[in-house]
Amino acid sequence: MGKAELTIAEATAMFLHVAQRMQDSQDVLTKADQAIGDGDHGIGMARGFAAVQTKLEASPPATVADLLKTTGMALLTSIGGASGVIFGTLFRSGARNLTDASVFNAETLSLMLADGLTAVQERGKASPGDKTMVDALTPAAAKAAEMAGASLGEALEAAAEAARLGMEETKGMVAATGKARALGPRALGFADPGALSMYLLLYFMAQFVTSGE
Ligand code: ADP
Ligand code: MG
Repeated sequence: MGKAELTIAEATAMFLHVAQRMQDSQDVLTKADQAIGDGDHGIGMARGFAAVQTKLEASPPATVADLLKTTGMALLTSIGGASGVIFGTLFRSGARNLTDASVFNAETLSLMLADGLTAVQERGKASPGDKTMVDALTPAAAKAAEMAGASLGEALEAAAEAARLGMEETKGMVAATGKARALGPRALGFADPGALSMYLLLYFMAQFVTSGE
């Protein structure tokens, strides 16, 4: 089940854990993008989360909003390509309604994912079913909203599982945007790499909160 909520220092430690594990996931993300894209997603995310790590270690954030904005800016400025903008926007805009948040709890998660999803869709114009990270983020945000009153560990586990199922569903989708679009039906059977990253992000957050009991 894990902790009900995290202090700002604990939430920063969670993001540092995620940053390390995303870098460790470079190969699996590279393979996913080699199958239906140009193969740069693994190196992009690894570079992005190395930058997140550097930034968070150099200047530990004072608030939850700062933590998300710092993470988003580091991703945006270091990745380049579609996913820099998309995942940068997720975290930067995820901070929109968190100016008063003094802890990271299930409600924080719910607001982050809801506002992040809205901004990602405004920015990238992808709808559910287009075979993007939106297909993992949409069910994760819905599940997090449902679990906003639960403990953070339970909410994260449920949101990660919803994202995983959404990622699995992208295997049956033809891409409507991004590099996989050119493949048409040849992209069938392969998961969207960004949807895989979205699932892993939540999975590693859940792992941090629920481990060590
Ligand atoms: P690029 O497409 O520039 O090579 P990456 O390979 O790093 O960038 O990331 C590709 C991922 O970005 C896709 O798998 C998809 O999930 C996500 N993505 C691309 N375009 C969009 C979009 N318009 N909306 C949401 N996500 C997108
Ligand atoms: Mg790519």
